[in-house]
Amino acid sequence: MPEAPELEVAREFLAERITGQSIAHAEVIKPSVLRPLAAALVPDVVGRTVAGLERRGKFLLLRLSDDRALVVNPMLTGGFQYCPPSERLFKKTCLLFGLSNGRQLRYLDDRQMGRVYYVRGSRIDEVPQIAAQGPDVLTPMALEEFRQRLRGFRGEIKGVLTRGRVVSGIGNAYADEILFEARIYPYRKCGQLTEDETRRLHAAARSVAAEAVKAVRERTGDRIHVKNRDFLKVHNRGGEPCPRCDGRISEVTANRRITSYCRRCQPGLLVMPTLTGR
Ligand SMILES: [Zn+2]
Repeated sequence: MPEAPELEVAREFLAERITGQSIAHAEVIKPSVLRPLAAALVPDVVGRTVAGLERRGKFLLLRLSDDRALVVNPMLTGGFQYCPPSERLFKKTCLLFGLSNGRQLRYLDDRQMGRVYYVRGSRIDEVPQIAAQGPDVLTPMALEEFRQRLRGFRGEIKGVLTRGRVVSGIGNAYADEILFEARIYPYRKCGQLTEDETRRLHAAARSVAAEAVKAVRERTGDRIHVKNRDFLKVHNRGGEPCPRCDGRISEVTANRRITSYCRRCQPGLLVMPTLTGR
C-alpha cells in the first residue's frame, strides 16, 4: 500500500515525534519480516537513539545512534503505527519499539510481505533493491534526465513506472493516477511515447505525487496506520464516471494488480493486456 506520498507523510509525522527518543524496549512478534533472519535485534537496538528519518522511494529509514539503521521496505501490506502502549495490539503487528517518551512505534504487516532490515548505517546501500531505485518522485527531475532514463526501457509504461528505476516511489495506485493525469494509455509501450506524452508524463508524476502528499497529510492526523485514499481519481474506481469526460472508468486485473483508466481520456489499442504481461 504505501507509496511515496503515504511514506512521506509517515516520515514527517514520525520525524517530529521520535527524533532524539531512545528505544527503551523492543519486541519481535513476527520474525519473518526481519532481515537478516538471525539478526539479534532486541539486545542490540535497546538503548539506541533515533537520530533521524529518511525516505528513499518506497523505503523508510530510521537512523539510529552508533552506526545502526532500520530500513523498512513495506511492499504492499506494511505500515506503521504510533500510539500509547495501552492501544490494542493489532494481529498484524510484527515489531514493536517502546520509546523513551512513553509511546510505541509498531510495524504492521497483514501478509508479512514487507521487510525490515537491521543494518549498519554505513551499509544501507546493501539492502536489496534500495540502491537500484531511480531518483525519488517527489524530488524535481529535469525533463531531459527523465527522457534519458525512460530511454532504457521497452515495456509498458505502467510497469516501467512501478518498477521504480526511472523514478522511485510510485506503486500501482499512483501509477494509475499519474497516467490518467497525463492522458496516457497504461499499456502503451515506453518506446512509443511521443515527445508531448513524455513531457506530460514528467509533469504529471511530480504534480500527482506532490498533491497526494497534501491530501494524505490532511486526512492522516495521528493515525498513520490508516489508509486514506478517497481522493484518488481513477484507481480502484472501475465503473464510476470519469472525473474529466463523460466516459466510465475501466478496470483490468492482471497478476492480481488492478489497473484503472479511462478509455476515452487515455486511448490506446487494447491488446489483451492480461496476456502481454509486463
Ligand atoms: Zn475520461
